Amino acid sequence: MKGDKPMAAYDPNNIFAKILRGELPTYKVYEDDKALAFLDIMPRAPGHTLVLPKSAARNLLDVAPDDLAHVAKVVQKVAQAATKIFGADGVTVQQFNEKAGGQVVFHLHVHVIPRKDGVALKPPASEKAAPEALAEHAEKMKAAIAAL
Ligand code: AMP
Repeated sequence: MKGDKPMAAYDPNNIFAKILRGELPTYKVYEDDKALAFLDIMPRAPGHTLVLPKSAARNLLDVAPDDLAHVAKVVQKVAQAATKIFGADGVTVQQFNEKAGGQVVFHLHVHVIPRKDGVALKPPASEKAAPEALAEHAEKMKAAIAAL
């Protein structure tokens, strides 16, 4: 549209693109032909999971609507499984677009964060979780999603 600011192009070297190509390790909890979900390595609460489309979308502004709809379905699965596994009282879902919107990694991703009554979120990117804890949480989540 005339007058619109052009959005930056998708960068295939962003860290999540590398994870999607299998070039970097991750704590995978779910995968199908169109989406991948893995644990955030700096969780704001135990079980903090990211859900991504496999298509090369920078964020909500450029993703194909069908890919976005599929991501939403996976977000629901992850939220349901995380509620069981982590005994959550609620779930926070967040998604950031462009730097001004709080986005740091420029491949579309949705945060799914299990919440407990009265427990505040840790600040973003404040602390790397222990690899053993992430591995254990990923296995439990994988099993719970498969059982849905
Ligand atoms: P944002 O783009 O603002 O949604 O933030 C990116 C998120 O990705 C943060 O919550 C980081 O903790 C998380 N993150 C960054 N690198 C990795 C990685 N290699 N594996 C999993 N999560 C990551």
